[in-house]
Amino acid sequence: MLHTPEDSGYKPRAGDGCVSDDVVIIAGGGIGGLATALTLHQIGVRCVVLEAAREMRPLGVGINLQPNAVRELTDLGFSQADLDRVGLPAKEWALVGLNGNDVYSEPRGLLAGYRWPQYAVHRGKFHMLLFDKLVERVGAGAVRLGSRVTGYRKNSGGGVTALIEQTDGTRSEANGALLIGADGIHSAVRAQMHPGQPPIHWGGAIMWRGTTWGRPIRSGASFVGLGTHRQRVVFYPISNADPRTGLSVINWIAEVTMDNSEGWKQSGWFRQVPISDFVHHFDNWVWDWLDVPAMIRGADCVFENPMIDRDPVATWRDGPVLLLGDAAHAMYPTGSNGGSQAIVDARELGAAMVARGVTQAALAAFDEKLCGPISQLVLRNRGAGPFGLLNIVDERCGGTFDNIDDVIPPGERTAFMAGYKAAAGFAIEKLNSLPPTIASGARVRSGAPAACIG
Ligand SMILES: Cc1cc2nc3c(=O)[nH]c(=O)nc-3n(C[C@H](O)[C@H](O)[C@H](O)COP(=O)(O)OP(=O)(O)OC[C@H]3O[C@@H](n4cnc5c(N)ncnc54)[C@H](O)[C@@H]3O)c2cc1C
Repeated sequence: MLHTPEDSGYKPRAGDGCVSDDVVIIAGGGIGGLATALTLHQIGVRCVVLEAAREMRPLGVGINLQPNAVRELTDLGFSQADLDRVGLPAKEWALVGLNGNDVYSEPRGLLAGYRWPQYAVHRGKFHMLLFDKLVERVGAGAVRLGSRVTGYRKNSGGGVTALIEQTDGTRSEANGALLIGADGIHSAVRAQMHPGQPPIHWGGAIMWRGTTWGRPIRSGASFVGLGTHRQRVVFYPISNADPRTGLSVINWIAEVTMDNSEGWKQSGWFRQVPISDFVHHFDNWVWDWLDVPAMIRGADCVFENPMIDRDPVATWRDGPVLLLGDAAHAMYPTGSNGGSQAIVDARELGAAMVARGVTQAALAAFDEKLCGPISQLVLRNRGAGPFGLLNIVDERCGGTFDNIDDVIPPGERTAFMAGYKAAAGFAIEKLNSLPPTIASGARVRSGAPAACIG
């Protein structure tokens, strides 16, 4: 279904001071922005989402929702049936060398002992699920489409004014208690907060992404990373197999690292490209259990995007303004946790507001807790994240081996992965024993100050 500003009944007007002073304004209606709106609604905080896109469409291909994010979605009232409509529970995570031999594999989600599953989902369908839930719970006016936030003004009374440009070019302003910049990697809110930030960082890897109908291999719900740290494919199913054909939608990413000394030369960061542009890199990647060129050629359309992130900044907060999701910590997708962290951010912000009200002090507590550790995770993902095991294989044997135990002993492999999971917040025992981020039924105290200086 397509959703447009007219659907929401919202007619942008020049000078539209549409939002009242006690409301939280959320810039960006992606995964982070919508999860924030759902959380604030749950704890009784009024908010509005300003989204630049003129219509909500199911864009993107596959992403993983790690158990720490599924836990939060469950607490937000999403059922297993909801998630099954947009993806499937992941059962295994595996790295395979170029000779087809296993480097590492481990069970995932419930099979690994988590209390919550890991889901491999279609990003666009999951995004629409969040959107539909928000509209169902709050009403059509919860998201104002066609409203790009171009900047903000901090007000002397403690509140904030969001500066807005509508799709037709008209400009308006909205006042709120707080502004949450959930406007993604190209965040305008972050650009104003950190005017001296360096440009987007590209480390040299290019990804081509697509989906192809195929027969799921191994467990039937396995994430497989195959190749070397400089050239690899990653693939996993994002739908249950059709009982008639046995075929699932397989999400795949083909990746090659190039010389980046001249920076990114193509126009734009995300564009559709012909398969013939890049499939030759994978010509010989054929085994009796997998035909990579055929998988790539089976896609309807393919998107090219460089693997990019941003250098961490010292703070995500400027008075009544906070960054969250990719606007705060855009990271390489090597750890499959960009979307998950955006959801966790939303819940941590909600928890901070339950403790401190709709205040700048709540934003400061969020910043204090997450900015340092998650910025470290950004740098860790830049250094290959969990795919770092492939670097070790490369260094020690050039990528060719008969028995992985001779190259990296089992204890070393397990310790490497445990270190990553602890940093990313999904270490099994720790996550299983944590109390809920937001206790069931918790609400922000009425009468909590709308905008006190923290
Ligand atoms: C169209 C799209 C497709 C994607 N596809 C994939 C994918 O296939 N696989 C994957 O791993 N990740 C994908 N991602 C990234 C992934 O969704 C994010 O890394 C992750 O979910 C974090 O979410 P976020 O809400 O912080 O940022 P995003 O998901 O990027 O959402 C940001 C939102 O803010 C809106 N926005 C941007 N600027 C402004 C502004 N100035 N004012 C108001 N609104 C603004 C954007 O339109 C978008 O809806 C995609 C992102 C987008 C936007």
